[in-house]
Amino acid sequence: MLTGFVKVNQGGWLKTVERLKGKNVLVTGASSGIGQAIAVRFAQEGANVVINYRNDRDMAQATLEKVRNARTSDGKQFLIQADVASEVEVKAMFAEALHTFSSIEVLVNNAGIQKPAHTHEIEMEDFDRILNVNLRGAFLCSREAVRHFLARGGPGNIVNNSSVHEIIPKPKYLPYSISKGGMENMTKSMALEYAGRGIRVNAVGPGAVVTPINNTWINDPKARTEVESHIPLGRAADASEIAAVFAFLASNDASYITGQTIFACGGLTLYPEFRVAWASGE
Ligand code: NAD
Repeated sequence: MLTGFVKVNQGGWLKTVERLKGKNVLVTGASSGIGQAIAVRFAQEGANVVINYRNDRDMAQATLEKVRNARTSDGKQFLIQADVASEVEVKAMFAEALHTFSSIEVLVNNAGIQKPAHTHEIEMEDFDRILNVNLRGAFLCSREAVRHFLARGGPGNIVNNSSVHEIIPKPKYLPYSISKGGMENMTKSMALEYAGRGIRVNAVGPGAVVTPINNTWINDPKARTEVESHIPLGRAADASEIAAVFAFLASNDASYITGQTIFACGGLTLYPEFRVAWASGE
């Protein structure tokens, strides 16, 4: 890794601008996948990062090492274990983060889970767990963050990890799809509610990204080709390409943006089946 540069997925190096220098950031579910890439990217841009993880201590430790190796300045990083679905644990996490950093400027609600099942076969336990992690968890963390932003009277910034399934239905993944639809509304409602108090709330809507949540197809060449055949840009994203959008929304470069979801999806939201005209005669 070249200090002061980030590797751009489609080739080459980009000089890091420390847009997040001195900002204290909490990233949930950051021990793997997109959350880990966000923690790395934010450290590269000069942020101090709280890396939340659920229970995978070894992966969290490995993430901490990666983040420390990636940082370009003297930013600080530390781990906090917490289940974002638990009010008690979320409150304890914020108390610990604020004890160490004394303020938090940016919250990234990244933690998320999914489980396939036909809708008529979904177990209530799975339905509740997915909604509890993906939506209740994002709400609990956002509520603590906003309480803190208001108490310190300064600006605040929340960036949610949503999905293209915020707007594209996902049969066989109903609780996941509902959770991301709910996240869109939460993003917009909170953005409107707190716009006058210096708090911005936005979301990123990734398409298909190479992370552990997609292990069923990323390591199977045939399945991966099938998945990628539906993506207009022709490939799944690297997690770093999604993290770059989080860094933008968390930075002052996005100072006039609130209540929006930026879809980083290789064109998946463009109705790919309409690449060829199939219904108008010509
Ligand atoms: P991932 O499985 O690597 O990441 C999910 C993370 O959330 C894991 O680190 C996991 O430990 C953590 N987590 C789960 N339950 C938790 C809890 N109760 N408390 C705290 N942390 C918890 O997969 P990913 O793709 O990096 O997913 C991250 C986010 O990106 C999710 O919200 C997912 O919905 C979203 N997303 C992913 C894709 C994709 O294609 N990978 C596409 C769209 C959206």
